[in-house]
Amino acid sequence: EKFKALGISDLITQSLNNMGFEEPTPIQEKAIQPAMRGQDLIGQAQTGTGKTAAYGIPLIEKMEGAREKVQGLVLTPTRELAIQVAEELNKIAQYTDVHTLPIYGGQDIERQIRGLKKRPQIIVATPGRLKDHMQRRTIRLDELRMIVLDEADEMLNMGFIEDIEEILSATPASRQTLLFSATMPRAIQSLSQRFLRNPALISI
Ligand code: AMP
Repeated sequence: EKFKALGISDLITQSLNNMGFEEPTPIQEKAIQPAMRGQDLIGQAQTGTGKTAAYGIPLIEKMEGAREKVQGLVLTPTRELAIQVAEELNKIAQYTDVHTLPIYGGQDIERQIRGLKKRPQIIVATPGRLKDHMQRRTIRLDELRMIVLDEADEMLNMGFIEDIEEILSATPASRQTLLFSATMPRAIQSLSQRFLRNPALISI
């Protein structure tokens, strides 16, 4: 089994099979092993390449299901992507005790606070709403192990760069950081230089 050969656990391999994933896509082939080893990485990949699972599988593997603290964070430019990513992560983690909650602007904040009380290990958030929760102290990132910036160039275009820098600065320095972007403008390169450590560069 090609997924097992990448070091993916049985429970997750089983859900990938259920989802109809028979073999890894090129970005998954390249990204999963370094990410599972704990390396930071920059992935240049478009939507439709399987990038969500490329970061989602290592992210879920790194979570401690028994520990009810936010340990994983994915930042996305839009609420639609946040919802879609959270759905895919919950499918991949269906046989584990790891749970993912989407957090985005435009949704009732009290409802999100109720969701947070169920103690998800992973949050998929748009930057503005996440900052709001951080200020209210309804989300704490002090136990964060891994952060993923998905569609980093889109977040830049939407004016989220300062929010992202603030969020990154509020997370433990020991965290692992993965950055995915379809294009690599200077501002994204500079963000990577400041916040990633010896990243592996992966493009497909
Ligand atoms: P993404 O680029 O993450 O938006 O993924 C694009 C689509 O490909 C989604 O519908 C995924 O569920 C699907 N997908 C991701 N990885 C695989 C795989 N290894 N085999 C088949 N489909 C996949």
